[in-house]
Amino acid sequence: MTKSSMKELEKVRGYIYSCRKCGVCRYKMTGRVPYVCPVKKASPGFENFSSRGKMLLAQALLEGQIQPSAGLARAAYSCTLCGNCMTQCGATDPDTRKPLVDNTAVVEAMRADLLRECPDLIDEAYRRVLAHTRQYGNPWGMPRSARGKWSKGLTIKDAQKEHADVLLFVGCTMGLNPELARRAHRAAAVLQAAGVDFAMLGAAEPCCGSVQKRIGDTELASEMISGNIKLLNNTGCETIVTLCAGCCNMLKTQYTGLTAKVYHLVEYLARLIKDKKIILAKSRGLTVAYHDPCHLGRHLGVFDPPRAILKALPGITLVERAATRENTICCGAGGGMRLFEGGAFAQDMGREAVQAAHEAGAEAIVSACPFCETNLEAAAQGLEAPLPVYDIIDLVYDGAGLTG
Ligand code: SF4
Ligand code: SF4
Repeated sequence: MTKSSMKELEKVRGYIYSCRKCGVCRYKMTGRVPYVCPVKKASPGFENFSSRGKMLLAQALLEGQIQPSAGLARAAYSCTLCGNCMTQCGATDPDTRKPLVDNTAVVEAMRADLLRECPDLIDEAYRRVLAHTRQYGNPWGMPRSARGKWSKGLTIKDAQKEHADVLLFVGCTMGLNPELARRAHRAAAVLQAAGVDFAMLGAAEPCCGSVQKRIGDTELASEMISGNIKLLNNTGCETIVTLCAGCCNMLKTQYTGLTAKVYHLVEYLARLIKDKKIILAKSRGLTVAYHDPCHLGRHLGVFDPPRAILKALPGITLVERAATRENTICCGAGGGMRLFEGGAFAQDMGREAVQAAHEAGAEAIVSACPFCETNLEAAAQGLEAPLPVYDIIDLVYDGAGLTG
């Protein structure tokens, strides 16, 4: 691999050289967080698991001091892309206070260059996800016909045939996993009860390209994005509501030219509740901690709407974990970490997040992302005091008196 072949790292050169290599992201240097990097916490602690280590490796690769290797690929893929290192990083513009280092962009760039130039170094689990996407149009290898099954029993407009104000974008993870699909069904039922004019794409709904971009296949992700923008614009919907934090981040930040305004369900529901289009009357006594999905909270700044919903639910008491909002602990599933070395790191990180909710006095964890929920649920099972994990739509559906 020559210097000139590192096209993606070249694009983020400015971030790499803005990093002071100070180590704030390696150690706990502030009172805001118990630790900065969840991967380093779950690891034996070597430098390459921390953000600073990855920045040093990216710089050495860019300068031709090191060559790709299995160890380098291990470092590049051991990251949830949670962004906590970026939040805690002291390298900020003195005038605007904005971060000068986008650590996640550097990790993604390193993955992209390694995957393109040395695919044999990349674990088969990641390459399988990319092959599934090419073959089935989704990362999970599910048949295209499985999309839209979540809507069984509901009458919903087909966005390709009828106009609607809102397009419900369910996403591959929520829509294709039979365990999670009931939540897509509940989201649609709540929107119907609120009188929202919405449609779905059903079997034609595309994968948003998040997983592919995070794994490093920038070419595939770009192809998907440009095709998807045309498809979504052709529906004529003015608003897109997503159920997954990853889809929301992709559509909001990577879909240049998308005509619709994009919201995550929590943003949309919070407004419907405020406008009294959804009446939450049914009470259930439960103390919950809200788990901010990194793609929704830290990356998009959506912290208040889910908390407003939880506070509006009768009988729900919201408690906060010690590290919360922009300082939150990652669930462990981001950045493809469930595929990393059999998922053991992801499980460890998930256990920390569940344990922190338990210590805050929560009886349950609530989130708004199928990746977080799946990982937290799996992690919780291994604990002495496992907490149930809900999607916020479960509580809204229940609070609105809907059943089934
Ligand atoms: S990323 Fe930020 S916190 Fe980490 S070593 Fe570089 S400058 Fe320091
Ligand atoms: S993005 Fe998260 S997991 Fe990755 S290096 Fe930064 S803090 Fe660690």
